[in-house]
Amino acid sequence: MRKAVKFGGSSLADAAQIRKVAAIIRSDEARKYVIPSAPGKRFKTDTKVTDMLIRCFEIQQRDLDEGLAYFSQIEERFNSILKDLELDYSLEEEYRVIRSNMEEGLSRDYLVSRGEYLSGKILSNLLDMPFVDPADYIHFNSNGIFEEQKTSAAFREIAGMESFVMPGFYGATDTGRIRTFSRGGSDITGSIVAGGMQVDVYENWTDVSGFLMVDPRIVENPYPIKEITYSELRELSYMGAQVFHEEAIFPARAAGIPINIRNTNRPEDEGSWVCTDDKISKDHLFITGLAGKTDFMSLSFEKDVGSDRLPFGRKVLQMFEEAKVMVEHVPSSIGTMTVVVDAAEISGKEESILRRIRREIDPYSITVERNLALVAVVGLKLRGVVGITSDMLRVLADEGINVRMVVQGIKEISLIIGVSEEDYEKAIRLLYDFALKSNQSIVSE
Ligand code: ASP
Repeated sequence: MRKAVKFGGSSLADAAQIRKVAAIIRSDEARKYVIPSAPGKRFKTDTKVTDMLIRCFEIQQRDLDEGLAYFSQIEERFNSILKDLELDYSLEEEYRVIRSNMEEGLSRDYLVSRGEYLSGKILSNLLDMPFVDPADYIHFNSNGIFEEQKTSAAFREIAGMESFVMPGFYGATDTGRIRTFSRGGSDITGSIVAGGMQVDVYENWTDVSGFLMVDPRIVENPYPIKEITYSELRELSYMGAQVFHEEAIFPARAAGIPINIRNTNRPEDEGSWVCTDDKISKDHLFITGLAGKTDFMSLSFEKDVGSDRLPFGRKVLQMFEEAKVMVEHVPSSIGTMTVVVDAAEISGKEESILRRIRREIDPYSITVERNLALVAVVGLKLRGVVGITSDMLRVLADEGINVRMVVQGIKEISLIIGVSEEDYEKAIRLLYDFALKSNQSIVSE
């Protein structure tokens, strides 16, 4: 058995946390490949090292000396970790290289990735495991897009390594320019390492004992999810359930490697398991979880399409694509095209998109509706259950909640219900109760 183990920022925030990490790694011989994040917050008002580095870059853009002075605070953070760990190891040479790169006008991604780099250096020393720099193995193209095939090929060069520490969050282009993933991207590195080293399990250690069925800020003490499939998780994380980076699902999933989300502060908890659809256990829940987001808006366009019907939809979507606005859903009917987008995403661009649509598509009506919230009810086993959608809608109707939109993909793994923002939390609570009852009645059948 071999495992890739990724530790998030809160697991590496200070020496006490890092000791827990070392104990976790040492307690299981299978934990061979370690992927650390940069140190996160030690307390609520603290600043993550990655955020300090972003700030450092911004300062140095204005004034190099001030940037270098700010960098000393980051050095202090790492030095205090080294001191508290009582490690006979110094990062002075590393700091010197980073400072001289700052003087030479380094890229933002380079500086921002140094949190993971230094964190990796500390762990490699503490655990006595080789340090492998992802800049040599995780490939990006010149536009900053991850290159899967080149990366897989590069991992073949290290396939024989017994163990290593590889910092999360970044890689490099062919010319050696450092590029980072989006925020929280060390999860992606962990997944790539898991796939590249063909391990049996990818453990993702964080500060919660896995996924909860619903947001605990809305429902008190929700049930934990013991097992979830990749496709269910993707639906939930896409709809706002955080814990695990959405894009981190792909590499492990492609390699068929199960993911185990664990809590560094409660290593005795089993956490949540993420597996492929064909590997679910007999206890797999009927409704696995619920997630939701507020602040969506819908834009509907009506046109007497006639022979224009074919290009109508494409043209509307093209306007959004060209304005770089992600379209979330397209619930449409003949002659009416509705586009649901995240209000933050379209902010500042709405007027110009509408102007173009008026000019180039000329719909006879445009309706914009705001304050829309979406709730996703997710479960692989929802597929083919007659009447379940109407049961859910009935629960909402009985409480006077108006359903403004319903989207059910043909795979029937999730039902997305659009309600007004003022009904959002109530809808989540009602549907959570419904989920618990349904899960219970399925188990007892
Ligand atoms: N340190 C990076 C961030 O704060 C990446 C990560 O922690 O996964 O986003």
